[in-house]
Amino acid sequence: MYQDYIGFGYDRDGLLSLMASRLSQKRFQHCLGVEKSAMTLARQNGYEPEKAGLAGLLHDYAKELSDEEFLALIDKYGLDPDLKNWGNNIWHGKVGIYKIQEDLGVTDSEILAAIEDHTTGSKDMSVLAKIVYVADYIEDNRHFPGVEEARQLAEVSLDKAVAYETAHTIEHLAHQAVPIYPQTIETYNAYVSYLKET
Ligand code: GDP
Ligand code: FE
Ligand code: FE
Repeated sequence: MYQDYIGFGYDRDGLLSLMASRLSQKRFQHCLGVEKSAMTLARQNGYEPEKAGLAGLLHDYAKELSDEEFLALIDKYGLDPDLKNWGNNIWHGKVGIYKIQEDLGVTDSEILAAIEDHTTGSKDMSVLAKIVYVADYIEDNRHFPGVEEARQLAEVSLDKAVAYETAHTIEHLAHQAVPIYPQTIETYNAYVSYLKET
């Protein structure tokens, strides 16, 4: 079934070997954790588990590219020049999808959009994009104050989990005094109403 989404004939084992060679052990384990959480969230939300698992597995594929590689991709594909003012945190999703298409031949636009927005969220997320965004935050290897509440919310409502994650990420970034990507704020505004009870 991966052949429905990937052009270059990869099966799961092929992707795992490639990813293991591209990523640190820790990052690779995180991707496996996101694959698993994404499949669980898919089952809970009436989505195809295999497709969610594939998007989850690949979401951080480009995380360990060098800054030079990202900057070259921004030029090569004529992407928004403002991206150059940001860094790996923003690039590995938004620019990473071009590397994923080059290396793996991923063709499925929904998977690519979910990976593109997995760090910032978006005001227009598909169910798959919400699954990957939340799975990234709550997978089993994540340990931070609030992760348990996020896990519980995700069992109740994917939208509430998106809202919680976005609010906490913005809080965290503001505490660290780092710039917040405008799309992250758009996501917050689109989902903030889900933070209220009911
Ligand atoms: P990871 O790749 O699994 O570590 O997780 P993410 O892709 O969700 O996030 C990567 C990093 O980007 C984390 O440290 C986030 O806190 C950070 N991040 C998320 N949103 C923003 C943003 O709007 N601006 C900046 N500067 N960093 C962000
Ligand atoms: Fe990421
Ligand atoms: Fe991640």
